[in-house]
Amino acid sequence: MEAVVKLLSDLVAIPSMNPMGRGRIGKEYSEQSIAEFLAGVMRKASIDAELQQVSPGRPNVIGVISVGARETLMLEAHLDTVFADSMLIDPFDPIVRDGKLYGRGSCDAKGSVAAFLQAVVNSLKAAKNMRYNVVLLFVSDEEYRFSGAQYAVRHGLKADVGIVGEPTQLRIVRAHKGVTRWKILTNGIAAHSAYPDRGKNAIYAMAKVIDRLEQHADALRIGPAHPLLGPPSLSVSVIEGGQAVNIVPDHCWIEIDRRTLPGETAQSVLESVHALLSNLEGCEIQEPHLSVSGMEVADHAPIVQNLAQAVRSVCGEAIVEAAHYATDAGIYNSFGVPTVVFGPGNIAQAHTESEYIELQQLHQATTIIERFLTS
Ligand SMILES: [Zn+2]
Repeated sequence: MEAVVKLLSDLVAIPSMNPMGRGRIGKEYSEQSIAEFLAGVMRKASIDAELQQVSPGRPNVIGVISVGARETLMLEAHLDTVFADSMLIDPFDPIVRDGKLYGRGSCDAKGSVAAFLQAVVNSLKAAKNMRYNVVLLFVSDEEYRFSGAQYAVRHGLKADVGIVGEPTQLRIVRAHKGVTRWKILTNGIAAHSAYPDRGKNAIYAMAKVIDRLEQHADALRIGPAHPLLGPPSLSVSVIEGGQAVNIVPDHCWIEIDRRTLPGETAQSVLESVHALLSNLEGCEIQEPHLSVSGMEVADHAPIVQNLAQAVRSVCGEAIVEAAHYATDAGIYNSFGVPTVVFGPGNIAQAHTESEYIELQQLHQATTIIERFLTS
């Protein structure tokens, strides 16, 4: 078995599911084992590696290679995966069949972890001159709160340019939307529902809030659009309220998902919502519990052009595009590190019941990163 396939098999065989805030515990719901394994692989290749405890049992792993180059490249991908409950294949027994490797995380995003690390190991082994110093950063908790990446930028991450590995089918994503999520609460007064006048109905109050948010969502849809990403969007996605059908509800809450354009911030989004709801009584707008910025790297930026050249040298052509999903790249770009998204595998297979990656793309991604590093 070739080295990168062996490495990916080893990674898939170590469960690292994100508990997604649902109280699941145990080492299969932790990045600890996979981070320790990767640190071991790095040290064997004489790469300085250390774990960064983001929260108990949820580390990032960082490897640093200094070659005295002028610039430092960050190669980043996430260690965590979504749950494997409903999978039709054995999620942690990686099987290779018909040129594909099956298993949870094979495509999202352990394929990128394997390709990035193997490319660096190969470059070091071949003793070729590297154009960049490299920071290998494999983070925890991308699927839920993006906290691994946020921790890394707050704790001394140093890089000049970056590539975030996600299954883009070897396309270079140079722009994507961001996401901000928060809750709105309405409070009422409980009463027996035979005497509704004695209470105050929190669900009726919420109905007014939702009506305004729907109008706001419509306005966003036909408002200013980004040339690659289109307009921003808003969705009221969860609602809960009341205790029982014979009680006037004294509480109701909704959860909102707002997709932002590059340049919009959580603060600017929340300010417009405050203005929108300012004259409605009894509603409380919470602070966002998740916010990742959108990002855009210029088409002519060296990270885009040099990576495109490496992709062309392997695949014949290079596709540069925009995506609608949010990634860690939003965090690094906000931090001032021009970072694109690029990796093997197809996002259509991410999170699916028989997740797989095409091995040809895994090999190509490894060669592309190696050429990007060394030519
Ligand atoms: Zn991913």
